[in-house]
Amino acid sequence: MNLQFSRRAFPLAMLVCSVSFFSVGSTVSSTGSSTEAQEISRSAQAASIGQDQVDAIGGYWYVSKSEPKIYYYRDGGQWLDLFSYHCKDSNKDGIPNMEISHDQEHLIIKSQGYPNHPTAIFPNSDNPNEIRVQDFTFRLPLVPRKSDTITRLPRGPIGMSLNGVVFFNPFEMEGLNAVAGYDEVWLDSCCGHPQQSGVYHYHKYPTCVKSPFIDEGKSHSPILGIAFDGFPLYGPYESDGSMAMELKGPEALDACNGHSDPERGYHYHVTPNRFPYILGGYAGVVEPSNNREFRRPAERAATGTIEDNTKPGDKYAKIITAVRPGNLVRGQTHEIQIDFDPSAARRPIREGVPSWVQIGPYEAESIERRGDTIVAKVAIPKDAAIGVWLDCHIEFGTQLRPVVIKKNDVLRVTVD
Ligand SMILES: [Zn+2]
Ligand SMILES: [Zn+2]
Repeated sequence: MNLQFSRRAFPLAMLVCSVSFFSVGSTVSSTGSSTEAQEISRSAQAASIGQDQVDAIGGYWYVSKSEPKIYYYRDGGQWLDLFSYHCKDSNKDGIPNMEISHDQEHLIIKSQGYPNHPTAIFPNSDNPNEIRVQDFTFRLPLVPRKSDTITRLPRGPIGMSLNGVVFFNPFEMEGLNAVAGYDEVWLDSCCGHPQQSGVYHYHKYPTCVKSPFIDEGKSHSPILGIAFDGFPLYGPYESDGSMAMELKGPEALDACNGHSDPERGYHYHVTPNRFPYILGGYAGVVEPSNNREFRRPAERAATGTIEDNTKPGDKYAKIITAVRPGNLVRGQTHEIQIDFDPSAARRPIREGVPSWVQIGPYEAESIERRGDTIVAKVAIPKDAAIGVWLDCHIEFGTQLRPVVIKKNDVLRVTVD
């Protein structure tokens, strides 16, 4: 099955040249297979293996005795193969997205840090950077330890999503809230964007990252990633219909966005629409090799959680004024109407049909324009995550720097 990489493949030249100028030519047409590719069967990842087929390597981690080695995470009594799906070579450069190994104390992950889901075209009118393949090595403690003090989140990577793409703290370089403030900070509808050195990163719940189980919102969410102190990060749900961020009392999330339960131990949750979105700080002892900021004396000593700096008036300009319908049904194709106000755009929006519309991970199959309304047909796969608000992004033009407009939290998939 083709990966959902229908749209932006890097020109090969970019990967072999140390200097690259543009990523023009990333206009590979959609194969139409992306929706199909997004439907990963549960059985592909829900492993039915026995204790005798794996070796315990520490904490909740296990590795298969047989080759090729498969790493399993024991999550609420289930064996999860977290990484096999993400270890493919989705950018087709001959190097797998991720390679996993371990030593006595760490799971060791080599990652290209490259998104294996559709993205916006970068650079675009709101982001001058391009997405570049990285050469990350992350060492994740197999047995995370709680710390007496909270370690402050550094700039740059703070943890890793299951696809090897990194999480950043909620702030951009200038210290601005990347999620809730300032229309300069434009995340694509997979909640990511590249920074100056081309590192594509998420500042909030990355709705496009496939985790081993479908998130039905009916029980504890599946694992999404791992923080650099080794503690796991989960999706938003704690139990049927209730999000971890709504918990009160002793189970409530702490200032780091974490809490404990008997099955999972200490773990973090993403908090949709609520600062700090991913982590508020590290509750555990961080592995210093994962981010060079940990090795700076001043940064190493930095403790405490982070605070939201969004001020009234810092919100996105309202270029997209309405999106209908607000609820989507799994397994159906929807005609989505998106109204926009060209006069509110900072850059002129050209006439004609947009080149691209994406709702969360789902790419439009066809796009029409009726005046200032865009009509996009979007198929929602049967395994879409339930209940989480998805962002919408629209691009005009496929040439260098398309004009992009964006609205957060516009649509969600409800029960079938
Ligand atoms: Zn950013
Ligand atoms: Zn939990």
